[in-house]
Amino acid sequence: MSKAVIVGGGVIGLLSAYELTRRGVSVTLLDKGDFGAACSTGNAGWITPSLSGPVPAPGLVGTSLRWMLRRDSPLYIRPSAVPRLAPWLLEFWRHCNPRDYEAGLHATAELGRHTHKLYDALAQEVDFEMHRAGMLFVCLRRESMKHVVDDIEAMRDYGYDPPAILGPKELREFEPGIAGPMEAAVWVKEERHVRPESLMRGLVAWLEQHGVEMRAGVEVIGFRRRGRQITAVETRVGSFEADQVLIAAGAWTGKVAALAGLFIPMQAGKGYNITVQNSEVQLSHPLYLVDVRVAVSPYKGALRIAGTMELSGINTVLDEARVDALRRGANRYIAGWDRGTAQTTWVGMRPMLPDGLVALGLAPRYDNLFIASGHAMEGISLGPSTATTIADYMTTGKTDVDLTPFDPGRFERSILGRLAARLA
Ligand SMILES: Cc1cc2nc3c(=O)[nH]c(=O)nc-3n(C[C@H](O)[C@H](O)[C@H](O)COP(=O)(O)OP(=O)(O)OC[C@H]3O[C@@H](n4cnc5c(N)ncnc54)[C@H](O)[C@@H]3O)c2cc1C
Repeated sequence: MSKAVIVGGGVIGLLSAYELTRRGVSVTLLDKGDFGAACSTGNAGWITPSLSGPVPAPGLVGTSLRWMLRRDSPLYIRPSAVPRLAPWLLEFWRHCNPRDYEAGLHATAELGRHTHKLYDALAQEVDFEMHRAGMLFVCLRRESMKHVVDDIEAMRDYGYDPPAILGPKELREFEPGIAGPMEAAVWVKEERHVRPESLMRGLVAWLEQHGVEMRAGVEVIGFRRRGRQITAVETRVGSFEADQVLIAAGAWTGKVAALAGLFIPMQAGKGYNITVQNSEVQLSHPLYLVDVRVAVSPYKGALRIAGTMELSGINTVLDEARVDALRRGANRYIAGWDRGTAQTTWVGMRPMLPDGLVALGLAPRYDNLFIASGHAMEGISLGPSTATTIADYMTTGKTDVDLTPFDPGRFERSILGRLAARLA
């Protein structure tokens, strides 16, 4: 039986372990913290292939320059982090054009083509909270709808129906929890959402039951190599021999990959959530508050508000000003959402690559080192398709998905990419 070691037990590492185990591979999963406890636990849990457009989008250069130094804006760049971030930002801005955006959207949509079916299959094996309640994109201004509608129209090739447009009156009948002067909404019936904590718990339980070696609190600090092969993964508690190694270390992927001599310019896109237990407001659908870029996810007994993007390096410092901005954003659409029996706040780091695409496939200069990371705002959504794709590739050398756009070595070919990786 071949043996794979996975570095990182967030949603990507856990699901990859699940798919490799199902294909008969003996898996060891290493995490420097607890499984599923980093970015994969407090996100909004959306399964939204309709949001396949990459983060670097046309028009974002101007918007991000306007927003970057405003601490309460949807995208904030900490001034002290700017010198180290400069090459990454330049690379990011270089991709904010219609051609790259469209190519990225289609590559990502193709990767996620079977997402809903994969979640249905996962739910047969793993116990977690999933809602098939669609997604409501709510707009304060009618013109905010345009890019939402354009992106969903682009999903027609991937099995999506045309989106339904709702006016203010229809919106209030459809989702009475919404208040305020909304002008329009877009209803996408295909989408779903999960309670991410329950998905993490369910996956850990499944992996434990199926004999996966699960080692929490074990940090990977190096790789032993012979020629183009990694032979063992080094940790502070000893080394783990492997036939194949998969790095799925989220925002830390660049640092872990650097231990193998690779250049992957991974940055952390920090985001926050406020979770209210038993909120007085009962919503029937998850909402995207388009103008303020805030996600709202109703769960069994809880309501979660999530969002904001902060580039301030790899750290989980919780900035109260950012949490307040989230709160104010939600207040404009939903009155009383924060009245409940208890409230918590959370911060997590999205793994972000400057072209907005994932790194998925074989690492350059290696025959048995693989990367699956950089899922930005879509780790939950793309988790199952990422895991099936990489597991197929690792076990058969083939996949149904064209991995060219996701080549983990693509940044090594530019000086800016290498510099961004070095400074990350
Ligand atoms: C506010 C917010 C809302 C979001 N909403 C959504 C959403 O609705 N839908 C969606 O699809 N996505 C969403 N996301 C994005 C999603 O959460 C991420 O894309 C996803 O969690 C990334 O998963 P991961 O497994 O790559 O990383 P992580 O979950 O961060 O896991 C990486 C793991 O690697 C481990 N690790 C790192 N270095 C080492 C080392 N040296 N040795 C061993 N282990 C190591 C870490 O301890 C960690 O457990 C959101 C994110 C945020 C912040």
